[in-house]
Amino acid sequence: MDHSDLPHKDWQLSERARKLTSSAIREILKVTERPEVISFAGGLPSPATFPAERMREAADRVLRDAPGAALQYSATEGYLPLREWIAARYSKDGVQIRTSQVLITTGSQQALDLLGKVLIDAGSPVLVETPTYLGALQAFSVYEASYVQVPTDDNGLIPEALSPALTQGARLLYAQPNFQNPTGRRLSLERRRALAEFARTSPFPVVEDDPYGALDYAGTPLPTMLSMAPDHIVHCGSFSKVLAPGLRLGYIIAPEELHFKLVQAKQATDLHTPSLTQRIVYEVVKDGFLDEQIPKIRELYRDQCEAMLSSLERHMPEGVTWNRPEGGMFVWASLPKHIDTMKLLEASIEQNVAFVPGGPFFADEAEAHTLRLSFVTVPPARIDEGVARLAALIRERL
Ligand code: PMP
Repeated sequence: MDHSDLPHKDWQLSERARKLTSSAIREILKVTERPEVISFAGGLPSPATFPAERMREAADRVLRDAPGAALQYSATEGYLPLREWIAARYSKDGVQIRTSQVLITTGSQQALDLLGKVLIDAGSPVLVETPTYLGALQAFSVYEASYVQVPTDDNGLIPEALSPALTQGARLLYAQPNFQNPTGRRLSLERRRALAEFARTSPFPVVEDDPYGALDYAGTPLPTMLSMAPDHIVHCGSFSKVLAPGLRLGYIIAPEELHFKLVQAKQATDLHTPSLTQRIVYEVVKDGFLDEQIPKIRELYRDQCEAMLSSLERHMPEGVTWNRPEGGMFVWASLPKHIDTMKLLEASIEQNVAFVPGGPFFADEAEAHTLRLSFVTVPPARIDEGVARLAALIRERL
């Protein structure tokens, strides 16, 4: 939208505000709201998995039994029983996570913002995977991070690449070990161990952002880096992919010294995450509901992923490659180098098919011939139709 004819166009904005940009993904999503568009673009969980009835019952109980507390201001750290539940869930196989490490956040996106706020100064080096989550780049960019890309391969981030020259002066390393957004990759067990070991001695935190860890199709998740070095890893978790993203409920597990600073930063941001939401979610999860719910989500997403992979095999011409995710919501594809997926998207939208071009996920040196396909919200028959249309457009450009 052009704002040049608005009455307040002369108001002086901060340098920071002038540097803010909209997420390419959100701009694209606007187009894909049209029902005729087959969208592989959004990172939206499937609404078929939202436990609406459970949430309604839990909301009724909370508002009946504790209306005063549920509708009142509450502690910045979060609702104590929910924090205890999170600490207990991560305390297994000899690992002990303390409730005092847990901070409830307004989505894990807020966790990224708070980490940026307390760790990054203008120009501070921030280590990120190549490529990485666009929302993390957006969050850290507000604090004027200077990105350093860490090399990756099909097994995720390469720990051996973390040389003193590369990590010099870094304030944090941002990593997603499970079914990474955007590539769907998973960090191997050996690499988790190596990175956890690195975190023990590095002069900056390793941030493990893990919203997709539970969505492991085989139901055999690899251990978190948090479990390997509980006092050295900063772990971000979320209820968005296992319950519903509209709740805006996430958490950070961090050593107490950092936790304390994050609490101060959050106080300044929003005082606390909604009391009502925290209590409702606690009601829903406290008796083991996620252990019934997660296998259902895994099964649905595994089937959807299979449908996407077989459509890709059926339709894509030679020269197009993609990975086979073991969990999560995304497939990452590479086209012949001369095809710019940003331009391809324009043609694709005309054919009512959407995806996310890979370029914006790179902190620099974008690989413009890559793209992300989300497979969880489109029914299999439409997946096939969408992939066929996309393949036809690619074939025209070979
Ligand atoms: N981290 C990653 C890697 C994500 O993909 C997302 C959501 N797309 C988030 C964080 C933010 O999730 P939320 O704020 O809903 O918890």
